[in-house]
Amino acid sequence: MLQGPPYGGPCLLAGNAMNDNFWHDGLRFECTKCSACCRHDPGYVFLSAFDLRNLLDHTRFALQDFLRAYVKKVDSGTGFWLSLREKSNNDCILWGGDGCTVYHARPIQCSTYPFWQGILDSGAAWSSESHDCPGIGKGQLIPAPEIHERLWLQRSHPRLKLAYDIVLESIDENTLLGSPRVIADATYAGKIAEQDFFNNPEDNSGRS
Ligand code: SF4
Ligand code: SF4
Repeated sequence: MLQGPPYGGPCLLAGNAMNDNFWHDGLRFECTKCSACCRHDPGYVFLSAFDLRNLLDHTRFALQDFLRAYVKKVDSGTGFWLSLREKSNNDCILWGGDGCTVYHARPIQCSTYPFWQGILDSGAAWSSESHDCPGIGKGQLIPAPEIHERLWLQRSHPRLKLAYDIVLESIDENTLLGSPRVIADATYAGKIAEQDFFNNPEDNSGRS
């Protein structure tokens, strides 16, 4: 599994920054469905409120059941974040034999990979990431505005951060997610369509 995108720092896209980036003419990427980003190594899949709500709607789990089964706390230094757990073999807890079991509700961290701020900081970082992801540099050209959209999606849904004194085991859903959960399928479908910018909706074998 991957370690998760960097957190905080100035937005890459301020002013004319998009035109100054090495990716202003787009980048080639096509997922080979190798699942390397979901398996074998320890890592983090941090959850935003948007992610958690989508996962609850998709799995139909109650919040506490989902937290107990799939989520771990990660110390941020000033509180804690929520991340998906791993299995004992370091596969993501939501990876099944044929790919991601929640593909249509996978977290933004997964759906936007490898278009993360740290990886897009330089051509060297992008090239270095290709050692972990064989899809980088291959396939279709992803235009800069679509890369921009993926970065913006991450920015607009920051990972949940909880104060140390919050007892996760007793927190209720409205407190954690801020508003009542909407479980209507039409609403859920709209959320997922927003996430899947240009991924094949039938492709469920990897993060992107
Ligand atoms: S994004 Fe696709 S190609 Fe890249 S590591 Fe993940 S599954 Fe493999
Ligand atoms: S795409 Fe699915 S299986 Fe892979 S890391 Fe994300 S949630 Fe886990």
